[in-house]
Amino acid sequence: MPRPFRHPEPLEIGGDDLRELVAACMDRLAPWLDGLKDQPAHSLDGSHKVARAFDEPMPERGVPFRRVLARLFDRALPVSLNAASPGYLGYIPGGGLPSTALADLISDITNRYTGLWMPAPGLVQLEISVIRWFCALAGYGPSSGGWLCSGGSIANLAAVVAAREAKLGEAFEGGVLYTSEGGHHSISKAARIAGFPRRNTRVLPVDASFRLRRDALATAVAEDRAAGRRPFLVVAQAGSTPVGAVDDLAALADVCAAEGLWLHVDAAYGGFFLLTERGRAALAGIERADSIALDPHKGLFLPYGTGCLLVKELATLRSAFAETAAYLPPSQEDEDHWNFADLGLELSRPARGLRIWLPLWLHGASAFRDALNEKLDLARSASARVGALPGVRIVAEPALSLFAFRVEPPGMHAAELDAFNRRVLARVNQRKRLMLTGTTLHDPALGEEVFVLRVCVLCFRTHADRIDMLIEDLADAIADPRG
Ligand SMILES: *Cc1c(COP(=O)(O)O)cnc(C)c1O
Repeated sequence: MPRPFRHPEPLEIGGDDLRELVAACMDRLAPWLDGLKDQPAHSLDGSHKVARAFDEPMPERGVPFRRVLARLFDRALPVSLNAASPGYLGYIPGGGLPSTALADLISDITNRYTGLWMPAPGLVQLEISVIRWFCALAGYGPSSGGWLCSGGSIANLAAVVAAREAKLGEAFEGGVLYTSEGGHHSISKAARIAGFPRRNTRVLPVDASFRLRRDALATAVAEDRAAGRRPFLVVAQAGSTPVGAVDDLAALADVCAAEGLWLHVDAAYGGFFLLTERGRAALAGIERADSIALDPHKGLFLPYGTGCLLVKELATLRSAFAETAAYLPPSQEDEDHWNFADLGLELSRPARGLRIWLPLWLHGASAFRDALNEKLDLARSASARVGALPGVRIVAEPALSLFAFRVEPPGMHAAELDAFNRRVLARVNQRKRLMLTGTTLHDPALGEEVFVLRVCVLCFRTHADRIDMLIEDLADAIADPRG
């Protein structure tokens, strides 16, 4: 590796140097990728030490690249939750599709401007196409559209702002929004950023299947109206984060239609199951939503950094976000030429569409559909096998690829059960073949707050062998309730 680089200007890396730098990355990445199956699913030993090692002043001079890579691969990366691992079944996985990195390499090096249509019409159009593909998946019509952003939280924020603008306008005081106990915390965060105090977000109870109760919604809306407040938005879950529940979208759409409310579906986890027949059945009614949040970095397996908001009427995003400035080119006349700056929070932005477009052209949609169908199958069989283990009660069956359970050994006192389940979780994770997480929730079967374990199968690298490991490790972990 030449130091300094061939070009006399130190920042102007040329083609030959770039090739060598990428090759040096590949010398590290290729064995890492090929050994991924055998890497631990998590390893946080020495986390404070490694963090301290990277707490250092800005380097005045560059150092040889291989040394930089060695620090990353030998020091920083090993101490982490391994979200690329097939054993990562905690939180909401995704895996990090390597082909997206190729798109990032191209878009970062060519550095085209996609905040507006004019500077890069081809790149903007391919991103519009990606959004149109997603709109078609959701069952949206020709006046729909959307915006790619960095993740589900930002998509939810843009949705709350679009709903506020459409339903309340600029004088939005007293606006009230509704979500459920299964609603993601990014909803109340979005509401606060959008100007609604915490007390204006109603967190409504769920039914025995963890779905937002339609009767509770109708009652809450009536009460708020009677008190002079202004209901404007219902946020439904299509795959809730705690247990993967899918709200009855058609029923909620009926309430919203009758009450004149905006329906937003948070499908950050579950949305891409629309590629599958079972997913479409589970999410029936989603086409009636005013907006939908998707997270390609979950259900489309992308590396972190891509979320998506779809809206039934593209004009609602323009009303909420479009601004003009004398130093920018004039707005596009043609309705089909979108300026992404008019549709969301950002001006300058990466060519996000390419991160989705390139993998879809490289692998084809069928590869994603097959992988998602496999995850649905795996979650179903895992839930059945986990539920057959002694003392295990399935708390939430997989509506998609996520389920929750609790170990309740006969004779164990109720007060001990939460602590025991936390021990089971720690024991399973101790072997590091798997990374599971838990959550506390209101258990409709018991009528109280309990701690449950969750399994979310959504990493594209997770296959049947890993579910076998889950059953083995879990069986061992629950074998000795007193231990
Ligand atoms: C992950 C998730 C979010 C937040 O998305 P980020 O991409 O992490 O910002 C919101 N809602 C649901 C249901 C999620 O699963």
